[in-house]
Amino acid sequence: MSARVIDGRALAAEVRERVAEGVREFAAARDGDLPGLATVVVGEDAASQVYVAGKRKQTEEVGMRSIHQQLGSATPQDELLDLIGSLNGDETVDGILVQLPLPGQIDQDAVIAAIDPAKDVDGLTATNAGLLAQGRPGLVPCTPRGVLELLRHAGAELEGAEAVVLGRSILVGRPLASLLLGENATVTVCHSCTRDLAAVCSRADVLVAAVGSPRVVTADMVKPGASVIDVGINRTEDGLVGDVDFDAVAEVAGAITPVPGGVGPMTIAMLLSNTLRAASDRPR
Ligand code: NAP
Repeated sequence: MSARVIDGRALAAEVRERVAEGVREFAAARDGDLPGLATVVVGEDAASQVYVAGKRKQTEEVGMRSIHQQLGSATPQDELLDLIGSLNGDETVDGILVQLPLPGQIDQDAVIAAIDPAKDVDGLTATNAGLLAQGRPGLVPCTPRGVLELLRHAGAELEGAEAVVLGRSILVGRPLASLLLGENATVTVCHSCTRDLAAVCSRADVLVAAVGSPRVVTADMVKPGASVIDVGINRTEDGLVGDVDFDAVAEVAGAITPVPGGVGPMTIAMLLSNTLRAASDRPR
């Protein structure tokens, strides 16, 4: 293997330590008051339960308060919107995270739109997405923030670099494209209609895959020495794999993230960082 493997777990631990220090300073300046993160889960989706349990545990480990709301899978949309309204008005809540996906009877866009942008620690509201698109400060989605931190940590030169992002979701691809543009990279976003994916990818100095298909990025698509970040999480017969064919691509790339142990831990660390930021920015 020639590529340096970027250790997302170690970097996430550093971020959490910085957040914990920030929480101690926050509490000291505010008579022991602590930032609070509210998590909302609708239904019993197994992956969602695991993700949210991890988020709650780490919230408490950095010294913040975790407030959890578990709703039944048949919860009507109005009931969820009422809950979000009450969390918006709750002085003890600084961040609101509604775990996606939501059951079919609920309109995801309506739910995201109901979250107070000042408490939108997932950075999904139109207000925060718009601020990011305009290059202005706001709450930035956790996974793209984590990807940028991983690239910085790997020493990737972003200014003037050819950056290719696979995927255009509001959760990952689009906000990441804005962040990379903000770093003065030349950004190309690929999606399911991209004609010659291999040709576009092979130009990339920085290649980020957020597609949700196992091993769609193969070694022949990667420029020698490129920094490759794998956002994908795919459950296969071989276990958890990313969107990148890790073993083969690691022979070509300059740096690469593993799955698991790359982007995943950074996503939660950035959620904690966003919650501290939301708490610090909110007048109390
Ligand atoms: P998504 O909403 O399903 O979006 C997938 C994107 O990939 C879409 O834009 C789609 O194009 C594009 N796409 C699909 N097949 C493609 C192909 N063969 N070639 C090029 N583009 C293709 O997924 P997401 O929410 O962004 O998540 C992507 C992956 O990242 C998933 O595996 C998810 O589990 C993972 N994820 C991981 C974390 C983490 O913390 N590690 C966080 C979030 C997501 P169209 O727009 O044309 O359909």
